[in-house]
Amino acid sequence: MTLEIKKYGTPVLRQKGARVEKITPELKQLVADMLETMRSAKGVGLAAQQVGVVAQVAVIDVRAVTDRPSSMEVEGKKVNPEDYMPLVLINPEITPTGEKVQGPEGCLSFPEIFGDVIRPATIDVRTLNQEGIEFRFSCGGLLARAIQHEADHLNGILFIDRMVLTDKEEIKPQLDELQAKTKKKLKMG
Ligand code: ZN
Repeated sequence: MTLEIKKYGTPVLRQKGARVEKITPELKQLVADMLETMRSAKGVGLAAQQVGVVAQVAVIDVRAVTDRPSSMEVEGKKVNPEDYMPLVLINPEITPTGEKVQGPEGCLSFPEIFGDVIRPATIDVRTLNQEGIEFRFSCGGLLARAIQHEADHLNGILFIDRMVLTDKEEIKPQLDELQAKTKKKLKMG
């Protein structure tokens, strides 16, 4: 089932997700619905807050993007990131390892709004998968950027909070318009 994607201005986007303590059938259904929603919206990633659930759950799939490469290492060996997509992240912990790089980002909760964000180029990730099994890997490129973007969502942080100031100034009118539209919609129920 595809779920409604919450837009900027919806309070749940600012809430920190609760840690998942147990893999339940409801959680598995949420993951399946989030994957379907991400695919249908043609997104690279989706966090639980974006579908109105306050939990440390995110999904990622970088396969549709061909012009921005990703790299991935599992147990110290280079692997093909495509073989690990889609990725399900539950209670992920991110450790930055690389130098910071500037790159463009968008977000399904901010339609048509884009801007550059500076983030570490490479990260170590420790997460649970949807079976509740720990999975550790390192990654770079678009995958590292996408995971950091989603991990931020799980803590109530949005990409506009980290956007370079010149870009943020440029999108300010669009941002205000989107927020007003969302608030109006919420008021009307
Ligand atoms: Zn996002």
